[in-house]
Amino acid sequence: MACPICGHATTEEYAPFCNARCQLIDLGHWIDGTYRLPSDEENPDGPVSHPLFLDKPLEEQPIDD
Ligand SMILES: [Zn+2]
Repeated sequence: MACPICGHATTEEYAPFCNARCQLIDLGHWIDGTYRLPSDEENPDGPVSHPLFLDKPLEEQPIDD
């Protein structure tokens, strides 16, 4: 298995890294937000679709005097 930081062979003591330095580098990435998890969710309040009756053109109503 290769160290994800430098690509060297990993050691049991610092797995999945090769040494303490790479372990700290990876930890630093998490702290810096480099590995920030995707948290942007779609806005549930999307554009409101028009009710069906608004899609119909208004019919002229004869005025009954
Ligand atoms: Zn390494």
